[in-house]
Amino acid sequence: AAPNNEDVTLNVRIVPYGNQQRLLIARDVSHLHRLEQTRRDFVANASHELRTPLTVLSGYLDMMEQEGEGELDGWRTPILEMRSQAHRMQRIITDLLKLARLETKTLDVGLEPVDIADVVRELEDEARELSQGRHRLDFSAEPGVFVTGRRSELYSCLSNLVFNALQYTPEGGAITVRWWRDERGAHFSVRDTGIGVSSKDLPRLTERFYRVDVARSRETGGTGLGLAIVKHALERHQGELEIESEEGQGSCFTCHFPLERLQDKAA
Ligand code: ADP
Repeated sequence: AAPNNEDVTLNVRIVPYGNQQRLLIARDVSHLHRLEQTRRDFVANASHELRTPLTVLSGYLDMMEQEGEGELDGWRTPILEMRSQAHRMQRIITDLLKLARLETKTLDVGLEPVDIADVVRELEDEARELSQGRHRLDFSAEPGVFVTGRRSELYSCLSNLVFNALQYTPEGGAITVRWWRDERGAHFSVRDTGIGVSSKDLPRLTERFYRVDVARSRETGGTGLGLAIVKHALERHQGELEIESEEGQGSCFTCHFPLERLQDKAA
């Protein structure tokens, strides 16, 4: 019995019962559903409220850094540090808002065929710029395989994987990016020869704020939300994330998209 005509969420299972019979078990999980909704709204609202004051603070810190010559000389180091921390906080808030959006709205309007080969080209340019020759980069994409969805979300998802590979692969390592189609669907993979992840940490990687090495992630500017964004953006496109990794050897992150999500276009 739902109060005030609220929606009811049922968790339904059908299990075998005796000979040729089935039992339908329905559990009312409305309260969990409402709690989850409250949590999502809270995170989204809190992030939104924090953004404005932080933008003001960052603006003044930028100004002090640029114009505070002379009288602020002794303060140069603390100002730079405050500015860098404020920017870090801004990145976290942007990622939290992105995640909140990915969790709430359903993906049904504004869909377009997204040319992943084009996204891969863009990512390759950015990766070369960021790597500055420190890694061996090998990008290739099958042309003409489009995913029905939202380009900005797919871009966020795939770019997080490529930037993580750069982040967690020491100088001299290799990063290989592939996009291809087969009879089961289409696949985007990022393989690196970086630090890898132990089997103990592997199952928790896509949790919000889960980081194997918190200090390292902070140092490199990570927010700890990248893989949570990847997972949610993929789920909205019926995709699945597969992670293979060996500590000290490297990792391979693969996004699988099912056939029904694909469109073929002339290359
Ligand atoms: P972060 O902002 O810390 O990179 P992510 O959610 O993107 O957050 O990733 C979570 C954690 O997963 C990282 O802190 C890191 O420990 C691990 N990780 C992600 N990608 C890789 C990778 N390619 N190689 C090794 N570890 C990785």
